[in-house]
Amino acid sequence: MKKVYLDNASTTSIRPEVVQEMTKVLAEDYGNPSSTHSLGRNSKSIIELSRKAIAKSINVTAQEIIFTSSATEANNWILRSAVKDLKVTRIITSKIEHHAVLYVVQQLQKEFGITIDYVKVNSDGTIDLTHLVELLSMGGKTLVSLMHVNNEIGVVLDLQRVGMLCKEYGALFHSDTVQSIGKRRLDLQLISVDFLVASAHKFHGPKGVGFAYIKKNSGLQPLLYGGEQEKGLRAGTEPVHQVAGMAKALVLSYANLEEEINLITSLKSYLVSRIKEFFPQATFNGGKDGIETIVNVTLPFSVDKTAMILFHLDMKGIAVSRGSACQSGSIKPSHVLAEMLSDEDLRKPNLRISLSHYNTKEDIDLLIDGLQTI
Ligand code: PLP
Repeated sequence: MKKVYLDNASTTSIRPEVVQEMTKVLAEDYGNPSSTHSLGRNSKSIIELSRKAIAKSINVTAQEIIFTSSATEANNWILRSAVKDLKVTRIITSKIEHHAVLYVVQQLQKEFGITIDYVKVNSDGTIDLTHLVELLSMGGKTLVSLMHVNNEIGVVLDLQRVGMLCKEYGALFHSDTVQSIGKRRLDLQLISVDFLVASAHKFHGPKGVGFAYIKKNSGLQPLLYGGEQEKGLRAGTEPVHQVAGMAKALVLSYANLEEEINLITSLKSYLVSRIKEFFPQATFNGGKDGIETIVNVTLPFSVDKTAMILFHLDMKGIAVSRGSACQSGSIKPSHVLAEMLSDEDLRKPNLRISLSHYNTKEDIDLLIDGLQTI
């Protein structure tokens, strides 16, 4: 049975060149980067070359890139230190953020008594920027945390515009760029942002490694204490093979970006046209201008079929998601769609189909065939 992988917003398969690079580093470059002997210096050099390559891809300096175990860790670190050390007393965010931001902010409210203001979400899932300006104009040392691309519905935030607004009102700006790094070109000399986070497995790199962009002189303090790695900001021996794999994956993503995006864009329009043809009553969530990798659709099936759609497709070798991966095993409605849809529409079966350049039209035909037999 052909496996059809249409769940690339959850994670992506690793590029073969990345596996090759990581295997080489695992086998040969095992020195501890903190050791002063040549094996250690060699590992250190792999780490620093990786840092430079990543920094170059988003046009920042190497010292502004800090490696972490994941985007989740990076989000936790930045938000917690902003409150604890930078004395942020209010966080403006939205109810459609990933839980790696939403739950952190809620925890910080419990621990530190900060204020949370949720910016309104329009019915197409975009952020209401007029409301953001209203919130920004109200006082308190503020941090804005808004994701670049929503992982469930693919809606894209205008980072440049929000960055300018934050600057104008003197607020710090953090953006979870997990779904856009490696898929959209980002030139941070043109965008006013203080903190970004990324996770390698979302751009065809390894799991369990990510990075944070921390603007120079931010004053952020560490989450973990121990060794002097990462300029004392993130203690713990660096996972050299993971970091090398992440850098390789990012460089390749940007080197092939236009070609791969063109392919994914044509796959997305094929997918959308097939769904419209076979399920004319289907509705799409997330507006027209979402990222090309994500399609979120509410299907005109009876509500009692909701729980078994994923199972049925899985039996046919087709991997897709409902909402984010963390919730996909449960039938709890998505917290993102809950902000946009009526209660009735929220109960209807919903799928997130997410694409990569490894997909083909045949994958989409198999998905449509699978859906037709439900
Ligand atoms: N933020 C967004 C938007 C995501 O899509 C994810 C992963 O699903 C994360 C954060 C968390 O990434 P990780 O599990 O790699 O830490």
